[in-house]
Amino acid sequence: MPRLLSGLLLMVLMSFGGTALAAAPQPATVILAGNYWDGLAPKPLGYAEIVVKDGTITAVGSKVVRPEGAEIIDLSRQFVMPGFIDCHLHLTGNIRIINAFAGMNDAALTLAGVNACQMLLHNGFTTVRDAGDFSIVSWITPVLRTAIESGAIRGPKIISGGHMLSAVGGHFDFSGQTRNGIIMEQVSVVEGVDALRRAVHDEARHGVDWIKFAGSGGFLSPSDGPEDVSYSQEEMNAIVAAAKGLGKPVFVHAYGDKAVRMAAGAGVRSVEHGSLSSVETLQMLASKGIYLVPTQYAVVRNARETCKGHINMEDPEWARAKAVKYCSQLLECARNVAKSNVKIALGTDLGTFDYSVNGAKEFSEMVQNGISPLRALKAGTSMAAELLDLNTGIIAPGKRADIVAMSGNPFEDISVTEQVVFVMKDGVVYRNDH
Ligand SMILES: [Zn+2]
Repeated sequence: MPRLLSGLLLMVLMSFGGTALAAAPQPATVILAGNYWDGLAPKPLGYAEIVVKDGTITAVGSKVVRPEGAEIIDLSRQFVMPGFIDCHLHLTGNIRIINAFAGMNDAALTLAGVNACQMLLHNGFTTVRDAGDFSIVSWITPVLRTAIESGAIRGPKIISGGHMLSAVGGHFDFSGQTRNGIIMEQVSVVEGVDALRRAVHDEARHGVDWIKFAGSGGFLSPSDGPEDVSYSQEEMNAIVAAAKGLGKPVFVHAYGDKAVRMAAGAGVRSVEHGSLSSVETLQMLASKGIYLVPTQYAVVRNARETCKGHINMEDPEWARAKAVKYCSQLLECARNVAKSNVKIALGTDLGTFDYSVNGAKEFSEMVQNGISPLRALKAGTSMAAELLDLNTGIIAPGKRADIVAMSGNPFEDISVTEQVVFVMKDGVVYRNDH
């Protein structure tokens, strides 16, 4: 049933998409960049001309040979940098969906995803990794990914993390709820080594790129705490081994120190949140080369407000209690992340809050928590591309032409990342209103 449903969703998306956006061959383009940063250098590199052909950057220099007939894009008053990458969001989520969850029809989740994709690209996000499909019965994010790749809808390149595998009563267990009077069985609530291996294979069968699991409880779930450990070491090892067998990397939702350490021991490629990690654990992640996606706009900003006594009274009682209990520990960990040399990649957790929030706020949040502007900017470009193993996130010959521009210099004022005026993805201009 899920496969058939996925096929139908794809057909619907293809048919309302209208004209293909990506298919036609493109003439060469030359971008005149007033000031640019390549995604790696310690500071901006000044004026540059960037040649783009067939979706790829072919030359960068202070004066390049302009291919005959090339379109010139004059961004000589702008700051140009690689397109942003969000390594942790939920395309199929918004507040209404979060509140209704299993009661929400998959068509509504799909449309939320289409809307999210458009917003993300508009704001300069040219690549995203989905950290958990909110459908409890089908696989929507691989369908969105295909729809974008075929040009049927606009959006960033999607790396699908499938569902977040969760223990019974764990962070992502929404089973037992009814839809149209039918009790829904959730595909991603799984326990035990054999069942987990099978669940990983099932995720892969539906075309996901990464495997995600909930290693600890969380703040957004009523029945567990962020320091709870959801799976045994054996189970975590089984998830990673099954995924590795299929060539899929694994990422883990983990707040508490113990769950982070166990998941790191199992061999995950990135830890999501990691917001209660000890100094020793952060050092261990750094020495193993495991990436941290700290989602600070979602977690640390809230903790800062809570510690100041600004408690969000709209949150349910259980959520307020957890926020108060952990706020100072979360702030301490954020300070330790800034001091550590762990590899940080940018993630917002958008979808657990609405896409009306510009995900680039994560850059400012990281800087506010003591992370240098350079490290924050790398987290959302070259470091994120390294985590996702993608040929983007850097402006250099041979890289995919994912490029954004803004009026100010983000090394001087990080918040200008929220004011993107130009977006190119795979060499195609999707926004140019400078
Ligand atoms: Zn998340």
